[in-house]
Amino acid sequence: MSNSAQIPIRIVVAGGNYAGLNAVKYLYASLLATPPNEPVNTAARNIHITMIDRRDGFIHYIGITRGLTEPDYGAQLWTPYSDASWLKHPSITFHQATVTEITANSVATITASGELSIIPFDYIIIALGEGRFAPIGMSSLTKSDFITRLDLTYQKIAVADSVAVIGGGAVGVELAADLKCDFPTKQVSLVHSRALPLQAIFKDEFRQGIVNTLCNSIGVDVVLGERVIQQTPASNDMLAAPDAEPDFIDATSDNVKLTLASGRTMCADYVIRCIGTRSKHLTPLINLPLGSFLDADGIRVKDTYQVDCAEYTHIYACGDITNISEVKLAGGAMYGGYIAARNISRCVLRGEGAELEDGERFPSKIMVLMGRNHFALQVGDEIWDTERTRQYITEDMGLKSCVDGVGFNGTPEYMGL
Ligand SMILES: Cc1cc2nc3c(=O)[nH]c(=O)nc-3n(C[C@H](O)[C@H](O)[C@H](O)COP(=O)(O)OP(=O)(O)OC[C@H]3O[C@@H](n4cnc5c(N)ncnc54)[C@H](O)[C@@H]3O)c2cc1C
Repeated sequence: MSNSAQIPIRIVVAGGNYAGLNAVKYLYASLLATPPNEPVNTAARNIHITMIDRRDGFIHYIGITRGLTEPDYGAQLWTPYSDASWLKHPSITFHQATVTEITANSVATITASGELSIIPFDYIIIALGEGRFAPIGMSSLTKSDFITRLDLTYQKIAVADSVAVIGGGAVGVELAADLKCDFPTKQVSLVHSRALPLQAIFKDEFRQGIVNTLCNSIGVDVVLGERVIQQTPASNDMLAAPDAEPDFIDATSDNVKLTLASGRTMCADYVIRCIGTRSKHLTPLINLPLGSFLDADGIRVKDTYQVDCAEYTHIYACGDITNISEVKLAGGAMYGGYIAARNISRCVLRGEGAELEDGERFPSKIMVLMGRNHFALQVGDEIWDTERTRQYITEDMGLKSCVDGVGFNGTPEYMGL
């Protein structure tokens, strides 16, 4: 590890959304912020943090389904990194570029204008998420392009008399609900291949409650136990290579005929496929012996958020790209960033043998927001009732609390370890 006066300790955070930006915030708080009552400016510490993201801002994904049906709200979902003044600290660099390769000691990137860089590191936090097909995923690199793309999808939705959502995971459920709540006169269908929506780790009673809400309270036509075996015309995600980057692939099509496994056919003016991608597309860019720490749910990490490989104690991962939980959540991503940042800070301040902190593992949890007036929450085995759940529902779908949480509201305060 570099620790001389000339060469700073180099920490790279690859990915700057819930997990990555929160990690940078806590690296700042424990390594760069000035402790109270201490005259010494710890910014003099010999540390350099580089955050890499292809975008120039944070996206509040939680609100993206409503952002597609309500563009004025959607436009608020992107917060430029330049709004966080502490990110301009001289010991922090934001590098806007796409990560093309991660090796044991460096990251290769390419900017939108084609400029290549190799960024060496002593520690890295991999927080690249799992990627989602557009329009849920976003290829946009800037806020203005993001707003343009949201609006294009909104225009498609607005002119369609019928919209079908394929895939009844939480995202598909929320999208179908937002579509029907914002456009009550449209025919909105949700087609899902299993008998109930969401993952089977949640209670059937909870999943059935969601079906009831969608059908009876909102008016979505829910088609369960029906796999789409043919879609004409196909959308680009159906034709894409498994390792293609999903955010750049449009999973929508116009004037579609769907053939279901039972032989039933359905037509829709507009179809949006909400099919999970997991992290397969990221595997090729991580040039490490991934076999040893990659499983079906993502990069296998230890409770310390180091990758589960004795050789790479300086490599951490957090957020959706990890195997931490089958249910990928922003709160868990932020928590992982926090623990990874604290552990790297310990190593930086106390040396390689420092005792590291284990993150807690939390019970599976899901909150499903179905339009403004319907929601459901299961935590562990417990299904929460409406009144108890309501205290966690905000009109802005958690936008302000997440934007504040990752550090846009003021400068992070010093945090001891
Ligand atoms: C519609 C929807 C609703 C949701 N609802 C909830 C909810 O109610 N509650 C909840 O807790 N969670 C919810 N989630 C899940 C939550 O959004 C994710 O768990 C969270 O985004 C994970 O954060 P992350 O930082 O790991 O990954 P991401 O947020 O995906 O961030 C990854 C970052 O890496 C960058 N990146 C990726 N690849 C590259 C590359 N090659 N080069 C450079 N940069 C790259 C991206 O630009 C991005 O900034 C929802 C998700 C969606 C889509």
